[in-house]
Amino acid sequence: MRKKEEPITVLKGIGKQRAADLQKLGIVTVGDLLEHYPYRYEDRTHLKPLKEMQEGDTETVTGILGQVQEVYPRRGLKMLRVPVRCADGNAVLVWFNQNHLKGKLQPGLQIVATGKVGKGTVRQISVNDFELIEDEEDLRNFQRIVPIYRGTERSSGKQLRKLVEQVLQQEIDGLEEFLPQEELEEYHLLGYRDALYQIHFPEDWQQLNRARHRLVFDEFLELLLGMGLHSLIEKKEGIAHGRQEVLAGQFFRQLPFALTDAQKKVILEVKKDMESSKAMKRLVQGDVGSGKTMVAVYALLKAVSGGYQAVLMTPTEILAEQHFLNLREKLQALGVEPELLTGSLNRKKRECIYKKLQDGTCQLVVGTHALIQKEVQFANLGVVVIDEQHRFGVRQRLALENKGLAPDVLVMTATPIPRSLALTLYGDMALSVIDELPPGRQAIKTYCIGEHKREGLYRFLREQVAAGFQIYIVCPLVEESEKMDLENATQLADHLAVNVFPDYGVGLLHGKMPPAEKGEIMEQFRAGMLQILVSTTVIEVGVDVPNANVMVIENAERFGLAQLHQLRGRVGRGGEQAYCFLVAEPKTDDGKRRMAVMVKYTDGFVIAEEDFLLRGAGEVLGTRQHGLPDLKIADLVHDVKILEQSRRLAEKILEEGLEQPKYEPLRRKAEQVYQRRMNLQES
Ligand code: ADP
Ligand code: MG
Repeated sequence: MRKKEEPITVLKGIGKQRAADLQKLGIVTVGDLLEHYPYRYEDRTHLKPLKEMQEGDTETVTGILGQVQEVYPRRGLKMLRVPVRCADGNAVLVWFNQNHLKGKLQPGLQIVATGKVGKGTVRQISVNDFELIEDEEDLRNFQRIVPIYRGTERSSGKQLRKLVEQVLQQEIDGLEEFLPQEELEEYHLLGYRDALYQIHFPEDWQQLNRARHRLVFDEFLELLLGMGLHSLIEKKEGIAHGRQEVLAGQFFRQLPFALTDAQKKVILEVKKDMESSKAMKRLVQGDVGSGKTMVAVYALLKAVSGGYQAVLMTPTEILAEQHFLNLREKLQALGVEPELLTGSLNRKKRECIYKKLQDGTCQLVVGTHALIQKEVQFANLGVVVIDEQHRFGVRQRLALENKGLAPDVLVMTATPIPRSLALTLYGDMALSVIDELPPGRQAIKTYCIGEHKREGLYRFLREQVAAGFQIYIVCPLVEESEKMDLENATQLADHLAVNVFPDYGVGLLHGKMPPAEKGEIMEQFRAGMLQILVSTTVIEVGVDVPNANVMVIENAERFGLAQLHQLRGRVGRGGEQAYCFLVAEPKTDDGKRRMAVMVKYTDGFVIAEEDFLLRGAGEVLGTRQHGLPDLKIADLVHDVKILEQSRRLAEKILEEGLEQPKYEPLRRKAEQVYQRRMNLQES
């Protein structure tokens, strides 16, 4: 009997070389082979009659090959043209620039070919995939739904199919059902062994769908349990913060506005978490401008009220400084003195802060990555708040968490993280959503304009500045070298200062500036001494200057949707009508689509979903950094419903305890996922 864990070299015909080749596809064991799922299927049960085929569609034909002809329709283009006699008439198969096939396509052989239907009275098919029917196995594959596998140059998809079939015909250990019967029924799941057979060699489309459903469900479940395991293992008894929260109360009373219902709801969730004796792990998701900072402040002050230390970590120095300045101003009256810890502090200042953190005299610290240095030690860390979480990896989060015994952890993120992805990435965290913007916000009017409208744009900007508003102008990376980009931004700033806004203050902010200088410029802009801020993308996350109400993005087509949304979110923070101008002349379809999405939508969730559809999960966030293993079969966009079901079951299982005997096989799988996840983070 074969075991799933055995190396594939135990299979007939797999030597060292084949094994090395298969390893390129991630196939090392027999189990890996079984999990090398087809990437598509071909329905050879009903082939469409030639007469009914439509030009431009992809169709499959089968028939007997005639004589190959070589044709040169254009210079540099070689075409193989082969007539094929099908049951219902004749067709022509063509291949472009694949002369090596010439010898293979022998007259008299039977072929099954799939490709795009061309025009003309005789059906011409431009083949992108074909098989010759050479032996019995091929004949078996003939009139059914045929799985198509991704292969390598040496191991074709067809060879892989034979291999998978060979394995599935043997008895294999490790294919037993691992979900309890009760769950199979509740979630209407196909049995595991059946699912595995049907995913490779489906009887019909319905069975295939059920098989896929089951395997997607499993993949999510294992992932979620793996993450759940992580939080069980990592979760030590946490701090039960006291119920009194004098500081937070005082803080909120001095605000010029009332909290939104959404903010109150989330704050209440945080309150419950913090007062419980379990360590809090909560993700707060809210669109840009939804007021996440208030939730952060609540958590920080609640901890400080009870005599604990509190940390707020941000991905950039500008953002850290902004939070720090705001907090310092508002906390002065309350007798709390925050500190700012960033990489650009000089050694003496840094060491002074280290000391205050270690002996507990500093209760509240705001900072960047500098906070996770090993020199940073806390006397009694009570809460960790991480702003704009999507910029940090899991590892950095853990590094900070581990500085306390078991501090409560709150991470905050703006979209773009669609719900499906949030559930998966942060499966070990509870999720709160601020699903409401503060009142009086008007949708930011967004326009995509070409170069020819620049003069008009400048006229409009002058009017806005004259009316007392401030303006951001962002320049992306355009040139190969950073130096050139800097020159572009500098030139633009000079041009604006001299020719367009001679009577106003124009500032320039870029990534290469020393942090102190950046802070200085930002401070001048915030204080209203500068009216126009030209910048490279350093202002992207979190910056909050309510009086700025126009965002101009140069070469906007160079940015992804997520970044554009973040940038636009810098304006429209006061009650006034805000504007965003995308200066762009997109050439690609993708670029056009991004601009159109920005003009049409302002809701970050919608934009995130669009981004997701355009780019796919891995691209949006860099899954590796988040410790998310590649998914074999599940798709985060299309399988959200299944993900939610898996999550429901995962929660139930974790609650009952994964150590229960009935969950034993599941536990083993979850442990593997957990291990893989940890390894990813280490590498
Ligand atoms: P983000 O969620 O993007 O971090 P911020 O916390 O920076 O948003 O808040 C955006 C702006 O909205 C800030 O200027 C903040 O003072 C203001 N704000 C926050 N909550 C409210 C509220 N309930 N009513 C009015 N304005 C608010
Ligand atoms: Mg923020």
